[in-house]
Amino acid sequence: MEAAPDPPRNLPTRHKCPACYKQFKRKNHLVEHMKISFHSVHQPKCAVCQKHCKSFESLRVHLTGPLAKENCLTVFSEKGCNHCLKIFDNPDSLSNHKEACCLSAPAPLGTTLPCAESEKKISGAVDLNNTARGPQAVAMDCEMVGGGSDETLDLCARVCLVDADENIIFHAYVQPLIPVTNYRYEITGLTEEHLKDAVPLNEVRDKILEILYNGESISRLRLDGGKARLLVGHNIKHDLDSLRMNYPDHMLRDTANYRPLMKTNLVSHSLKYLTKTYLGYDIQSGVHDPYEDSVSVMRLYKKFCRQDHHQLEEIGYQKISNGFDSYKSKELEKMSPSELYEISRSNYRCWCLDLRQNVQP
Ligand SMILES: [Zn+2]
Ligand SMILES: [Zn+2]
Ligand SMILES: [Zn+2]
Ligand SMILES: [Zn+2]
Repeated sequence: MEAAPDPPRNLPTRHKCPACYKQFKRKNHLVEHMKISFHSVHQPKCAVCQKHCKSFESLRVHLTGPLAKENCLTVFSEKGCNHCLKIFDNPDSLSNHKEACCLSAPAPLGTTLPCAESEKKISGAVDLNNTARGPQAVAMDCEMVGGGSDETLDLCARVCLVDADENIIFHAYVQPLIPVTNYRYEITGLTEEHLKDAVPLNEVRDKILEILYNGESISRLRLDGGKARLLVGHNIKHDLDSLRMNYPDHMLRDTANYRPLMKTNLVSHSLKYLTKTYLGYDIQSGVHDPYEDSVSVMRLYKKFCRQDHHQLEEIGYQKISNGFDSYKSKELEKMSPSELYEISRSNYRCWCLDLRQNVQP
């Protein structure tokens, strides 16, 4: 008589995260994972398997890295856009999309001295209020020269602001408050000559604040911004410091600090890298151009503003405090993985919400 085969041993139940698909032997480990992962509809997602990733960088690894999931890699390599990582139905729609997604570099402003033409551009000929299509945002970039005896103090010597349509709304050579000890010519293209008739820092700051406040009161600006403008930049706090200027955090959009654009270990990428990777062109190959840089941050902002995250219930993003806090551990352990996902909240403010607020009903 043949021995009966061993009865199938009960495989231990695995508890799977519905967002990133990590598996856990114990339910309380899944609960702990959900508490610290801040999964939400705003996370970058694989368009093939719907896996949530912490950053576009980790999504890129998932789609194209050496350990990419085979099916995702196959679909992506046929129908995926290398810049925004979206997937298209067919090669035609992909190639149409790529024309809009992969951009060419804006024409640099160069380092010609102030001339009548650049004054004209600055004099407010651009109608800033004509941007009903999207958020009222302006992008800014500063070029820094060196100050102090060791030349390491960053002093703003040139600043450029552009609107959402890439028009220059302000450009100036700036006279720093303390003497310049190094013009950093290889990077800035600036010499003593450029700063001879430069605008004093205080005047520049006042002009920029006037543009940003847009006639709004300080109290309203601090509350919800009102009609004041969002300020977009790369490592914008550093630019603001160099201008000795303050602007409320909730009005800043920083490509260096937007979670989905950061490295997975939360270190910032350079603007040069982000521009090459997500917009498809090179900047800062020689002298840095504040127009080129501010246009590039504006383009990045607009691209990630337009992410379509659908789920309207997420409009309650104000509940940024973790929804898990209002439940006892026992209650959480009884919930299904998808119920746990439902109470999970993002720990950053997604830029897609900017556009949603401006959409007219
Ligand atoms: Zn997860
Ligand atoms: Zn979003
Ligand atoms: Zn995938
Ligand atoms: Zn694309």
